[in-house]
Amino acid sequence: MRFLVALVVAIAGAVSLGAQRSSPLVEPAEFPPSLVRSTRLLVVAPHPDDEALGAAGLIQRVRARGGQVHVVLLTSGDGYPEGVEVAEGVAHPTAGDFRGYGVRREQETRDALQILGLGPADVTFLGFPDEGLCRIASTYLFDKKRAFASPYTNRESPPPTEQVIRGVKYRGVDVRRELERIVEQFAPTLLAIPHPEDEHPDHCSTHIFMREALSASPPAVVRPIHVVHYLVHFGQWPLTIDGGIGTTLNPPDGFPRAEGRWISLVLTREEADAKKRALLAYQTQMQVIGRFMLAFGRSNELFLDGEPASLPECWCDGQNVATEAAPSAYRRRPPDRR
Ligand SMILES: [Zn+2]
Repeated sequence: MRFLVALVVAIAGAVSLGAQRSSPLVEPAEFPPSLVRSTRLLVVAPHPDDEALGAAGLIQRVRARGGQVHVVLLTSGDGYPEGVEVAEGVAHPTAGDFRGYGVRREQETRDALQILGLGPADVTFLGFPDEGLCRIASTYLFDKKRAFASPYTNRESPPPTEQVIRGVKYRGVDVRRELERIVEQFAPTLLAIPHPEDEHPDHCSTHIFMREALSASPPAVVRPIHVVHYLVHFGQWPLTIDGGIGTTLNPPDGFPRAEGRWISLVLTREEADAKKRALLAYQTQMQVIGRFMLAFGRSNELFLDGEPASLPECWCDGQNVATEAAPSAYRRRPPDRR
């Protein structure tokens, strides 16, 4: 999430509550999946806070209808130097500082989820590396011998207490196996995952891993699942005028039109208030990207429904890309994140 800080600082002054609200290019439809007692919602998030940014309202609505919710965090957000420096007051964080920061963010997740009506047993932390998922989804996707090593925590495997399958390491096959196991055990009927067009490498990689896990799961497990996608990082959205000023969150201008149908879940006042309180529970993130976080605290949540039109194309950096597309079919330019 590192690149975001400069972005937020750069544009924070450009957004004012008095600005004219632009009308969205795409009018979202109503949220169509029916939410009933038998609904089992699985929210898959790359970092602590994404589940609340994207789906805090949906989580509450499913619970209110008597359904079950489980949240999976692929990473604990332990690879964010600027965040560690601010939170810990250190200029040169050590591996221990990064690990401690991850533990702190996990507790923030439990606090946020409690506000949304979930308990500690309703969340699973997988302990994969923050800022490392994309490399695992590219260089280390099929590598059985080597594992990715986090330059922040110096880990090559999830902490033993967070290994769903004992002995997993920072390798693509292990991420997929753990997600497969969770899908099989929880048996979701509704799945909320990042959209592949999300520009954060950990986010589009999470989408790729979920696709892999679903394609490897038995048809009886996959058939009942309705998949919706949430978006967190796309250009300067939602801090821009097209993101919606005031209460309504609009789809971003410039989002590829064929990549799914926008649907909107309109929140009750209570749901919207609880979502804002859940976002505020992420104190370490409020310290560094508070305006961005609160830009998601609106009266509705947006999702993309339906299968994306294109193969995911997830750029880790200028050289590494996680995709099944042939190089001649690449649509994106490698983002300049540094
Ligand atoms: Zn994230």
